Amino acid sequence: MTSIKQNIEQITHQIGLSAEKCGRCPDSVQLLAVSKTKPIVAIQEAIDAGQRHFGENYVQEGVEKVQHFQQQNREKGLNWHFIGPIQSNKTRLVAEHFDWVHSVDRLKIAQRLSDQRPSDKAPLQVLLQVNTSGESSKSGTDFDTVAELANAIAALPNLTLRGLMSIPERADDYASQLHAFQSLADALAKLQVTHPEMDTLSMGMSGDMTAAIEAGSTIVRIGTAIFGERDYR
Ligand SMILES: *Cc1c(COP(=O)(O)O)cnc(C)c1O
Repeated sequence: MTSIKQNIEQITHQIGLSAEKCGRCPDSVQLLAVSKTKPIVAIQEAIDAGQRHFGENYVQEGVEKVQHFQQQNREKGLNWHFIGPIQSNKTRLVAEHFDWVHSVDRLKIAQRLSDQRPSDKAPLQVLLQVNTSGESSKSGTDFDTVAELANAIAALPNLTLRGLMSIPERADDYASQLHAFQSLADALAKLQVTHPEMDTLSMGMSGDMTAAIEAGSTIVRIGTAIFGERDYR
């Protein structure tokens, strides 16, 4: 079995290779370690290996981890990204504890996050989650409503609108993966005409990271390839 440190080194190496292959700078792709369901000791191992950005999906679990690492958050500059579905009764906890939110898909949630962001904190960095697969069951806003939503969210005082995120339908072939990611990149390019501050594309997970990087991903969200399979028992 490889260690978390070795896995992070391996993924970082792969990110670099994938970036260089398509003429991108390796530093332009940030590794987000998705630590949901994983214990504190695993996160500490990742921190000791130099990892600074962590993603969590469940509000309660994520808040406990942010609080546990409070000292290191400050000393080492850790960043916590909320990447899971958000219910409106949980927005306060997210606004109070996280640095980034990737999964905003409606105005009501964004408004609450802005209202509830503590005034002593930097603005919450926000990504709009887009449904690139067109399935009604998946969360995310549609391509035809994303511009309207972006305009409204950009006007909120305590949020900084940074870009788009998607979790495409699982596809095993590279061409389909690339196609879905390119559609998100195209949507961002259109928005950048009126919102030049949107510079972030959160796309790519353990199974489709290479295609995401080719399509322009700036944050890859990697869980399994760093921490191993998740145990939901
Ligand atoms: C769990 C999760 C990931 C990580 O997926 P892996 O396949 O384990 O790398 C990335 N993004 C989101 C939104 C997730 O929920």
